[in-house]
Amino acid sequence: MSTELRDLYQQVIVDHSKRPRNQHPLEGANRKVEGYNPLCGDKITMYLKIEDGVIADISFEGSGCAISTASASLLTESLKGKTLEGAEALFESFHNLVTGLEPAGEAPKLGKLAVFSGVCDYPTRIKCATLAWHTLHAALSSEGEKVSTE
Ligand code: ZN
Repeated sequence: MSTELRDLYQQVIVDHSKRPRNQHPLEGANRKVEGYNPLCGDKITMYLKIEDGVIADISFEGSGCAISTASASLLTESLKGKTLEGAEALFESFHNLVTGLEPAGEAPKLGKLAVFSGVCDYPTRIKCATLAWHTLHAALSSEGEKVSTE
């Protein structure tokens, strides 16, 4: 990868870590799951509003390093409006990308998420990048923790 491209990728990650999108509790959410990465201390809560098999809305709250925050922010941007099957497929592609199983050039469907391709060179950062995704996966594969209306 060219230095220029790396810099560009870095800019997207810095931007999303400083100004995270969709970082707020979600009114009307019907799934809520918490995730924690003890290696780095990243904490995240994902909120999903699922209607007719589609992610109608998604947001997160949390505190963590720049990588985990940027990853959660980009995840919410990428998944709004996606079907549950589409979200699971993206989860798999993203996981393959950051663990180095799938080269960035072969994952055009990842779009902006490809900025995390460099993470596979930093094994200790992989869990930071995938925390939001594992949390999402838990929310999709189970009923998750129902949001309390209290
Ligand atoms: Zn982290």
